[in-house]
Amino acid sequence: MILAIQPEESVRSYVERNLFINGKHSSEDAFRNFSKTCPSTSDSLEISNLLGGGAGCQGFNRMLHRHTDYPIRAVFKNIQDISYSEREYLSGSTCFDSIRIESGFCPVCVQEDVKRLGFSFWRRAHCSELKVCAEHNVVLVKRCPACGRRFSYGGHALNVLWKTCGGTNITDCTATLNTDQIELKKSKIYMEILSFPHHISEEAALSVLNKKVHLDDTYKCEVNYLGYPFHVGSSPGSAAEVRPPSVKW
Ligand SMILES: [Zn+2]
Ligand SMILES: [Zn+2]
Repeated sequence: MILAIQPEESVRSYVERNLFINGKHSSEDAFRNFSKTCPSTSDSLEISNLLGGGAGCQGFNRMLHRHTDYPIRAVFKNIQDISYSEREYLSGSTCFDSIRIESGFCPVCVQEDVKRLGFSFWRRAHCSELKVCAEHNVVLVKRCPACGRRFSYGGHALNVLWKTCGGTNITDCTATLNTDQIELKKSKIYMEILSFPHHISEEAALSVLNKKVHLDDTYKCEVNYLGYPFHVGSSPGSAAEVRPPSVKW
């Protein structure tokens, strides 16, 4: 039995959930071959095929866009290569998640999942450097409430979400309201980028940034200090003041 992947569920969560539900004696062997620690390009491609996500690159792109943090890296596109997954589909070996990154959960999201689905799962945005749930403004739980271990390398495996830690259901914890507005803003921007339906032209973004820099002397000094190829001090809008292709994001 292949489970349905949930909206925003990370690839690692999905692999772990299939292995947990199907158990050792399941006839479904496919998921045992996928990495539980660092799902790669080929894992994501095979999972999208298993899910019937569409032929070839289309299904792969959908998997990257909906279930990994790839949109954060891919939102800016250079006109020299605007294909969504660039060279990943043909020859990539990138890991689109890692056991080294601290996973976390929002107690309110989990409670809502359980009420709606009967179970919960790990969300890609909560398994990142973010500290706050953008939807509920609640501090993400990044350490086991029962034993204090992290949900990453050297700590708990992701399947602890569907088991207990020493008899304690880890999701039975109280939600802590976030008071840091910057962290909330960061989470909201992150979520907006994940669900953004278009990419942003790198050239256009650089052009706008260039104009903004020229309006503020502090920015001018900082950009000059960092060595970006802006012609600081030249008149805004002149053709010579920005050379986008040489800027690396
Ligand atoms: Zn939440
Ligand atoms: Zn624990």
